[in-house]
Amino acid sequence: TKPTIGFIGLGNMGSGMTRNLQTAGFPLVVTDLRRESAAGLIAGGAQWAESPRAVAEASDLVITMLPTPKHVEAVASGPDGLVAGLPDGGTWIDMSTSVPEVLDRVRAATAGRGLHLLDAPVSGMSVGAANGMLQIFVGGDADDVERLRPVFEAMGDPERILHVGHHGAGYAVKLMINQLWFSHLVATAEVLSVGVAAGVDLDVLRNALVASPANSTFVSRDVLSILDDGDYDEGFAIALACKDLGLSIDLARSVGMPVELSSLVEQIFRRARARYGDSAGEMTPVRLYEELLGR
Ligand code: NAD
Repeated sequence: TKPTIGFIGLGNMGSGMTRNLQTAGFPLVVTDLRRESAAGLIAGGAQWAESPRAVAEASDLVITMLPTPKHVEAVASGPDGLVAGLPDGGTWIDMSTSVPEVLDRVRAATAGRGLHLLDAPVSGMSVGAANGMLQIFVGGDADDVERLRPVFEAMGDPERILHVGHHGAGYAVKLMINQLWFSHLVATAEVLSVGVAAGVDLDVLRNALVASPANSTFVSRDVLSILDDGDYDEGFAIALACKDLGLSIDLARSVGMPVELSSLVEQIFRRARARYGDSAGEMTPVRLYEELLGR
């Protein structure tokens, strides 16, 4: 029989991930601030728990998929927190885009209990979560990663489940991916708008870029969902994109690296968030440039 998985955080990502775990046959115990978000899972046989602690007490391993490090901390700690409910030797995988400090504090406070703590953040957007095609970057012990591979494979693309190093390495890889992705987004929006303002046809310019060494997945693929469908990916809130950019800069600062470009990209994202609201899609900064063009 498959291990029972406790899952906390049934939002844009967690909802698809839990559906795929359920389809793969893992019994689930779930919780969220909003009980409605579990309705479909409960109809499929999942058990609801009233607190993170109750989730941990009823499961063989716990997964969290929460917005920010603060939320991870809140779910972990206190008398109703998941750490209080984990048995000695228990496993907690945090799949949020977060920072290692939270699990490090837990590890320090629970020395001797033999807890297995891993970070395993993901890429692939809410579509990838729904399709079970996430890319997963796991930081932790190799033995744990192998033992948990069937769980990851239920949510991700088997070819792209990567053990990237010690605990914390998963978060670092994920933050660097989003930093580069968002930098591509801003750079693409900037050159497309200058080219169009200079009188070049947008499609001609984009096709030339795609065929050039300056190509990126943003130019070749994602900008089309904006240009063709006006889709700024509301499955990923710009407030969370700004969180990721802030954590990326914190990481750079903590290792003493100057990151002028990252800081500029963060400011542009924060401007778009202030203008279009927290729940606007992650690709909304492109709108700032569309407005400059009067589009
Ligand atoms: P979301 O805001 O849609 O979902 C978060 C869920 O956590 C919500 O349902 C919320 O109610 C729940 N929650 C918050 N605090 C809680 C608490 N104390 N107890 C129980 N539940 C609580 O966020 P999301 O888009 O699913 O993102 C989750 C994480 O994944 C974030 O770290 C994000 O950066 C990362 N991520 C998101 C995407 C994406 O495309 N959406 C892609 C890759 C990674």
